Amino acid sequence: MTATNDPATPATNAHPSLLDLPPLGADRFAAIEDKVAALLGTRSDVVIMQGEALLPLEACIRSAAPRGSTALNIVTGPYGETFGGWLRSCGAEVVTLSAPFTGAVAAGQVAEALRAHPGIGLVSLVHAEAATGNTNPVAEISAVVREHGALLMLDAVASVGAEPLPTDEWGVDLCVIGGQKALAGPAGVSAVSVSARAWERMAANEDAPRRSYLSLLDWKERWLDGGRAALPHAPAQLEMLALEQAVDRVAAEGLGAAFARHRAASAALRAAARELPGLDPYVVRDEDAAPAATTLRTADGLDARDVVEAALKDGRDVPLQAAGGALAREMLRVNHYGRAADRAVATDTVRALAAGLASLGTPGADAAAEPAVAAAESAWDAIAGA
Ligand SMILES: *Cc1c(COP(=O)(O)O)cnc(C)c1O
Repeated sequence: MTATNDPATPATNAHPSLLDLPPLGADRFAAIEDKVAALLGTRSDVVIMQGEALLPLEACIRSAAPRGSTALNIVTGPYGETFGGWLRSCGAEVVTLSAPFTGAVAAGQVAEALRAHPGIGLVSLVHAEAATGNTNPVAEISAVVREHGALLMLDAVASVGAEPLPTDEWGVDLCVIGGQKALAGPAGVSAVSVSARAWERMAANEDAPRRSYLSLLDWKERWLDGGRAALPHAPAQLEMLALEQAVDRVAAEGLGAAFARHRAASAALRAAARELPGLDPYVVRDEDAAPAATTLRTADGLDARDVVEAALKDGRDVPLQAAGGALAREMLRVNHYGRAADRAVATDTVRALAAGLASLGTPGADAAAEPAVAAAESAWDAIAGA
């Protein structure tokens, strides 16, 4: 087999580099789980699930939210809303704590909700929201949840590889990650770390999925408890290998360097937005801004979808996207995660935004372009060096 990673090699069926690979055995599968555990700083079990990250997220909720229990669902963006739907469909009573998309949720608000509803047994939280550009203070929230005795499920899909995620140090019981954001890896497999007390609560839940694709307990009984000797079914081999390469690449770069790139990209885009007419950072405080993605608010009368379309004209290839749903008019996203957490990508994005604003007739956009690029560069360099 002639495998090549050369992107210049045209895709062709003549040399199928993705086929006819040797089987991915239990040893290799377990080794990849161990690499993910190291990435998360956890000694708990890590289960790699054979699907996109919504699979372990739904699996966690269906396993850990028994019928008749009470759950606190913290909503800082669209994923939190999805979790609320799953919790209700499990028959859990859902207490919702919502934060505006302009900021984070505070640990004090969580403590207050737990005091008001002492029966809460599970707290679901999104660490960073790529869709709304905010990040939540997990260390502080987690301490409050621990004190209360509830389980904490964390969606860390948009934070892993972009910002610190010390799962055990924080005391996160169920930490869900995917490979497709800051790790610049595959979307088709994902992982969850499961604390000992999370396993206990799941085992005690009669309604927890079993003999099901959504079952974490199946993985425990058929894989972990057997010493990871035999895989319960054929693994998603290509995705597993890609996940391993993504984790290896970040480890080789150094997690600290990867975090710095993402923080620098966020700081650069926020600094530039303050220079550009018609745009402002959507998330108000720097400390609440997700390192993985920056959301920008368009001025009244300026439709974010038009800004994105104009910015992407002439083949400009930058990671810009209009927000979805109700925010589409007023919010756009810069998805500066993974390989896009890069100084040249950040400055190209600023230039594209300035050009787009100018082509829409925004006064001052032309003149603001170079000062905005300079602001982005100096913000980047202050964090990640030139
Ligand atoms: C990206 C992301 C996911 C995964 O969802 P996709 O639809 O595959 O993008 C889950 N949670 C969060 C917070 C994310 O940012």
